Amino acid sequence: MLDLVIANGTLITAEAIVAADLGIANGKIAAVGTELSGRETVDAAGQWVLPGAVDEHVHLQMPVGEFTSSDDFYTGTVAAACGGTTTIIDFVEPKPCQPLLEALAARRAEAGGKAVVDYGLHMTLSRADDDTLAQVPATIEAGVSSFKLYMAYEGLRLDDGGLLRALAALREYGGRALVHAENHHAIAYLTAQTLAQGRTGPENHPLTRPDVMEAEAIHRLLALANVTGTPLVLAHLSCALGLEAVRVARARGQVVWVETCPQYLLLDESEYHRPGFEGAKFVMAPPPRTETDRAALWAGLAAGEVDTVATDHCPFFYQNQKTRGRDNFSRIPGGAPGIETRLPLLYTHGVLGSRLTPERWVEVCCTEPARRFGLAPRKGTLAVGADADLVLFDPERPVTLSARNLHQNVDYCPYEGWELRGYPVMVLSRGEVIVRDGGFVGLAGRGRFLRTDPLKR
Ligand SMILES: [Zn+2]
Repeated sequence: MLDLVIANGTLITAEAIVAADLGIANGKIAAVGTELSGRETVDAAGQWVLPGAVDEHVHLQMPVGEFTSSDDFYTGTVAAACGGTTTIIDFVEPKPCQPLLEALAARRAEAGGKAVVDYGLHMTLSRADDDTLAQVPATIEAGVSSFKLYMAYEGLRLDDGGLLRALAALREYGGRALVHAENHHAIAYLTAQTLAQGRTGPENHPLTRPDVMEAEAIHRLLALANVTGTPLVLAHLSCALGLEAVRVARARGQVVWVETCPQYLLLDESEYHRPGFEGAKFVMAPPPRTETDRAALWAGLAAGEVDTVATDHCPFFYQNQKTRGRDNFSRIPGGAPGIETRLPLLYTHGVLGSRLTPERWVEVCCTEPARRFGLAPRKGTLAVGADADLVLFDPERPVTLSARNLHQNVDYCPYEGWELRGYPVMVLSRGEVIVRDGGFVGLAGRGRFLRTDPLKR
């Protein structure tokens, strides 16, 4: 006997568009077919039924300098759910010299009573000494198989030697690498020079993080990964030059997957020239770039050169947080909100914008992120045996984005006033309705920690 039937909907997966009913039992998809019956039925006529979206890159309650990103595991996952995202992968940032498993336990305790959707974690490796790398196998054993490596940010970044050692260890143990590629020294030099010239406003932020130096870091990273033979995921690609570096590596046979984010597809550097201090809302790294870069990323996404769209959600309030850098753009906390808006933004601008098919939209937002980080086939697809994480998406529903209506705990939306067509109306997680008519109806702490599978060696 099925617990619930989602009847008369149009099922959209990475592979196909099918008119069918979907049956749920014990929190899992138990049947796909016609004229299914169960204890309860939801009529999804006129709706699209998608796998719950998977956001592989979010930063909830992340300490950054004197601030902590403003969404905690409750508000951030409620926002995710309301936007159709039913799985997130956040990060563990160990303190200097803290054992990785101790940091993992502390992070799981922070998420545990709060998260409302299922969550995995990446482990940040900000050190690549023998002692730290020797903890990688136990970390994988504990359910964290992906590791974040930074090439920029003092205190987090690895130098080339550290990158080589970390990449070699990940290759040896089957760990997955997710890498932030920017050139640390060029950013430091350009920032110091810019401030010394008395240029302090947010419009200077993108000038200190040029596309050439992002591409340089990507090229160097991929050259180092070629030495160790390590496949990797490139986080938040923002520019055409970086994609060019990826093509070069792929042409020599390297395995690299590419993530981008809505902000790099939809925004550009003109946002930094907003009146007053408003440009600070868009201070993030890397920065949104040019129309040419946006076009290259959209084309890459459609063609399969760019594999996933994540958010890099890392919100800070404009008032009293972003504005703390009013006299010095380098003190503006970096990051922007986006966990709630990814799926609908990509529908309006991707599918309705004729840049992505519905299948590809589902693939880059739901299916591929789950595959990429060892969560498939449990998450990211509509298949018998998968978790019943579903989105009922009304492809006609008009919505005007506004911080006032969104659930993200932050006082602005980078897409304020944008008019969208198509929005989630009901969201299920493991068979349980957690969003109804755009409002969250689930319980705090219902989200479960997800173990991610390592790469096969
Ligand atoms: Zn990030």
